[in-house]
Amino acid sequence: MLELEELVMDFSGFKAVNGCSFRVEKGSITGLIGPNGAGKTTLFNLIAGALQPTNGRIRFLGEDVTPLASHQLFHKGLVRTFQIPHEFHKLTALENLMVVPPSQPGERLFSNWFAWGSVRVSESDVEKRAYETLEFLELSHVAHEPAGNLSGGQKKLLELGRTMMTDAKLVLLDEPAAGVNRTLLRKLEAKIDILNKERGYTFILIEHDMEMIEKLCAPVVCMAEGQVLIQGDFQTVRSNPQVLEAYLGE
Ligand code: ADP
Repeated sequence: MLELEELVMDFSGFKAVNGCSFRVEKGSITGLIGPNGAGKTTLFNLIAGALQPTNGRIRFLGEDVTPLASHQLFHKGLVRTFQIPHEFHKLTALENLMVVPPSQPGERLFSNWFAWGSVRVSESDVEKRAYETLEFLELSHVAHEPAGNLSGGQKKLLELGRTMMTDAKLVLLDEPAAGVNRTLLRKLEAKIDILNKERGYTFILIEHDMEMIEKLCAPVVCMAEGQVLIQGDFQTVRSNPQVLEAYLGE
């Protein structure tokens, strides 16, 4: 589904990503791990089109998408979750899923959430889908609560929900477990698992919570110093001496 070829991101002489290559298979949940500063976030920014690589190539569904910006990738089904913006905290959970697209171009984030392919949808369809999404995420009871009142875990579920309002094929999750309590963490894992197994979403997730990585991810890609150190199943990666050394040096 996704192919990264020798990606390089050079920040004025410092290569945060330095020749990174790997493939993401359709239907997988790929875990991206590595010590702080390994280049994981920069790599996500490259994949999501938020940064242009200095060198290398990105293919998505067989197409060279290297020069495309995030909104263009979004329309192709490559979606990255975003924290709920501060201004959205006053909107209810339901409204956060239903934000109406502006007619003028420019406010990409807003229009993105409603661009289901090239089909324009009516508000009632959007509302129906938003309610279904809340039900799937077990958030129906907070549908009319301002998003700012939700717990950290509920916000993460809502962020996941926003990707479900689109026709996402590949979803990039940036530390979904961060700041989430144990109970909601299990729920979040279960929802990611269902979206993957039953609804065909492919995921790449950056995560420090090794329990989540072990439960959900195959393969696991470990980065260090801008490069892929090793990839494989969780046990192989975890027991690799170079991986241990990279984390010890953190
Ligand atoms: P990780 O997500 O694995 O912790 P990052 O991708 O955030 O790693 O950072 C990798 C390295 O690139 C770090 O040393 C960081 O300081 C550096 N870096 C990230 N963004 C920039 C930038 N815009 N300009 C210069 N250096 C950056």
